[in-house]
Amino acid sequence: MADLVENCLHLEGLRVAAGSEYRCPVCEESLDLEGVARWVRDAERSRDKAYSMVEGDGFGEIVREELQREVYRRRRVMYELENVPRVVTARPEMILVIHDTGKASYECRIFYKEPRPAGGLEQVSVAAVQETILELRSDPDPVVRLISEKVEEFHAYRAKLSEVGEPAPERRVFYANEL
Ligand SMILES: [Zn+2]
Repeated sequence: MADLVENCLHLEGLRVAAGSEYRCPVCEESLDLEGVARWVRDAERSRDKAYSMVEGDGFGEIVREELQREVYRRRRVMYELENVPRVVTARPEMILVIHDTGKASYECRIFYKEPRPAGGLEQVSVAAVQETILELRSDPDPVVRLISEKVEEFHAYRAKLSEVGEPAPERRVFYANEL
């Protein structure tokens, strides 16, 4: 996984994730806006290095063009992210919370009434740890705060069942009237 993150060029771009994070759907690395800016600068540095190194042979030219294209591509990704409206006023229509035993986390899928709000959060993964769940309460995104509340409720319910030796459900759907 570490290798994948390190080598991934985030070729499918970055998506809006929880809080003020942006996530690569391929390697799942999360970046804040500063991290995205750094990612753009990395490409600029590679390009500049290629320009300073090579005399004008044909291969060097191809490499430089390639590196320049990568700079443009990353800048475009950053530009688009900066222009996604971060404030989502729409309430979710439904939240599906699935307990992932392997990852010891809760995977949340968020559904909205159509049309889906631009930049609306669609997926959040929360470690199945009380403190982590509670931390999300102070997230700037109201949908994340809502998720925190619902996951906490489900987490507490599952813990109570486990205490008395009952099998705990692995998933829970919260409908609009509970949100
Ligand atoms: Zn990636």
